[in-house]
Amino acid sequence: MRLRPGSHVLWRREGTSQVHADPELAVVLDGLSVEEQRLLEGLGRETSESAVLARGRELGIRAPRVRELLTRLEACGALERDRDPAVGHHGLGAELDHWSRVAQRDARDVLTRRQEAVVAVLGLDRLGLLLASGLAAAGVGTLLTEDRARVRREDVGLGGYTLRDVGEQRGDRARGILRLTYPHVRTSAPPRTRPDLVVLVDHGVSDPVRLRPLVREDVTHLLVVVREVDVLVGPLVTPGGGPCGRCVELHRTDADDRWPALATQLLGAPDRGVEATSALLAAGTAVGEVLAHLDGRPVATSGTSLAVDARRPVPRTRQWPVHPECGCTGLAVVPGGAQPAPA
Ligand SMILES: [Zn+2]
Repeated sequence: MRLRPGSHVLWRREGTSQVHADPELAVVLDGLSVEEQRLLEGLGRETSESAVLARGRELGIRAPRVRELLTRLEACGALERDRDPAVGHHGLGAELDHWSRVAQRDARDVLTRRQEAVVAVLGLDRLGLLLASGLAAAGVGTLLTEDRARVRREDVGLGGYTLRDVGEQRGDRARGILRLTYPHVRTSAPPRTRPDLVVLVDHGVSDPVRLRPLVREDVTHLLVVVREVDVLVGPLVTPGGGPCGRCVELHRTDADDRWPALATQLLGAPDRGVEATSALLAAGTAVGEVLAHLDGRPVATSGTSLAVDARRPVPRTRQWPVHPECGCTGLAVVPGGAQPAPA
């Protein structure tokens, strides 16, 4: 048992102490004796419950009262009973401590779920590799990467490619870099493994050839599209449960009937690299969305895309309703406007 790294027990006034400094997390303990406050203040130095009980005896605090105080601290996520050595070994201590503070309880189950998760990242430019590295650093256990294009000079640096990687196949190099930095991450999976989520990193427009099988096979996917002056993160598509990539394209066609012709040309255009700030912002946003989905927290990109722009630190949001002509959720257009119940 020990005080969780990054958690604070602070003295407010005589008789009152506070767990956590952040006003959103803070829990105030009052009715404490001066000795009890001293015991709590010294908790960071103790490493076991027996040491805390011994310190309590020195201060004249009875064991049941010490245990009661420890239980209250544990309920705030400020204490941990034991720590799996693998957490430290894999460099996931900060991750566990952060999400335990957020959840106000031991969040080991969050890390376990991430370790069991399989995420595929298709498109490994500097943004794609940065995104995959972010997921590895957050504890995602299996990362499948695919990109047959060659590493370009513009890809080097941010995500982890080095100058020596220029000209090598991106997918191969990405797997090598991830394995080297995160030895616990698996970069392959048995045939027919179904990913928990696929991230598609495209330039100009999402590739419909890659989207179709994901919708058909009900695989959740996050669209990331690098455009001329911004990056769109989202929507996160849950097939049958909200708008899909085709819905987005149909809405664009409603706004501009020549969009399909433009989109076809964008699809074949070469990838021109990603500006540094855009890559960082977009990768961070996408990693946050993938983890929210894996952790079972609300996502911001359900039916929504976030336009990340190097000129604006706050992303602009755009909502995408299901398009009635898409058919992806079983809704169809009925003359007269009435819509049948989902099939
Ligand atoms: Zn659709």
